[in-house]
Amino acid sequence: MSDFDLIVLGGGSGGLAAAFRAANHGARVALLEPHLLGGTCVNVGCVPKKAMWLAAEIAGKLSMAETLGFATRHGQLDWPVFIAHRQRYIENIHQSYKRRLDAAGIATLPMRAHFVDARTVECNDGVRLRAPKIVIATGGRPQRLQVAGAELAGVSDDFFHLCHAPKRVALIGSGYIAVELAGVLQALGSQVELFARNSRLLASFDAELAELLAEDYRQSGVHLHFDYRLQALERDGARIRLRAADGVAGEAFDTVLFATGRQPNTDGLHLENVGVAMDMRGQVQVDAWQSTNVDGVYAVGDVTGQLTLTPVAIAAARRLMDRLFGGQSGAKLDYRDVATVVFSHPPIAIVGLTEAAARAQHGDAVQVFRTGFRPMLYALADVPQRSLFKLVCVGDERRIVGIHLLGDGADEIMQGFAVALKRGITLDDLHDTVAIHPTSAEEVVLMR
Ligand code: FAD
Repeated sequence: MSDFDLIVLGGGSGGLAAAFRAANHGARVALLEPHLLGGTCVNVGCVPKKAMWLAAEIAGKLSMAETLGFATRHGQLDWPVFIAHRQRYIENIHQSYKRRLDAAGIATLPMRAHFVDARTVECNDGVRLRAPKIVIATGGRPQRLQVAGAELAGVSDDFFHLCHAPKRVALIGSGYIAVELAGVLQALGSQVELFARNSRLLASFDAELAELLAEDYRQSGVHLHFDYRLQALERDGARIRLRAADGVAGEAFDTVLFATGRQPNTDGLHLENVGVAMDMRGQVQVDAWQSTNVDGVYAVGDVTGQLTLTPVAIAAARRLMDRLFGGQSGAKLDYRDVATVVFSHPPIAIVGLTEAAARAQHGDAVQVFRTGFRPMLYALADVPQRSLFKLVCVGDERRIVGIHLLGDGADEIMQGFAVALKRGITLDDLHDTVAIHPTSAEEVVLMR
């Protein structure tokens, strides 16, 4: 006897999407979430991060406004006021999820659970639930480097507890979260230093864009330390000092944050009771259909380590439910050509192959088109920040296989071009499209 048709472990982006879609197809669903509904994205990820990014963007625009003749005095952000707005926004999302879960008849339990067998989970109050299908959507959490004193530093979750801009901040890492937090904190009044083990920012992104972004960050006052090997964190009164592998310790910081990757939430799930295969990092192994090696057990989202983005977790979950309960036997997510944005200052948006990846795959058949320009507002205010847009094309027909945008508005420009790239458009198709003037977006269709 089964209590439900489906049990979903985790009420984050992937878990909620799975629960809603399955219920929509008529399934009896139980959703287990021990913390806040919405998971990482809503509570300590995309949503509060974007709110802080918007505050930082406003700060930048305010200082340009003054140059351009507005009588406004460039004031400091009152963090508690802004955070009250941010949290009100997030609370509205929680309430909306609760209403929708009730309306959909989904049994929502504020519990952590683990596997007893492939059809049974046990909640932390000892209650057991059974279903023929179980989805693991337990996401991940930030990880610290394993160095002496690591506990002195915070992680991205702690950034969202800040109620003021710490005077001096060290960010350890060079991926998108490090870059985003560094940009926000610098714009909102901190003196930020970023310490990267790599010799550049954003290793998997286009190298030219990353180089120009590094230049922008330097101009805005962020100190970038590349090829840095951290050995230890040491207490210095109320502050923290970084000691490098060569023994040198720099000045002390008020706040140190690790942005050095994330680990999957699989410990404690007792997956060994079921024999679900995981990789070396503890990520659940799934095939193209989100199926694990155990019949009836599936996984979506960050816990699988596949393109760890909210819309990816949602799309994978919805397609899985369409397959399991909606009679759509061919439904699965195509993980290729997913567009993504780094909310840096200015933002970066990408879709498809980098120039380097395209050359590795297609050799001399690759052609790259680029344009650098100053967006109108920056030119008017005489701010040096420039945009750089790149198209990566392949073959005689010049099919677009990569679009890389750094600059004001890139985050909003990309979505439509991502559709076009996925439809297989060529450079001629872009040239056949009449530009919208004067915009930054028009530069994409004017590139030659
Ligand atoms: P989560 O959202 O992490 O949800 C997992 C849930 O499972 C959690 O709520 C957890 O409490 C619960 N859980 C854990 N263990 C158990 C258990 N045993 N039983 C029951 N429940 C359990 N993505 C974007 O697309 N755009 C962005 O701008 C963006 N910015 C980000 C910024 C930051 C700082 C971070 C950290 C992430 C960001 N992401 C962004 C990534 C995005 O947040 C994740 O890809 C997304 O949240 C993954 O969803 P998920 O459902 O897999 O996991």
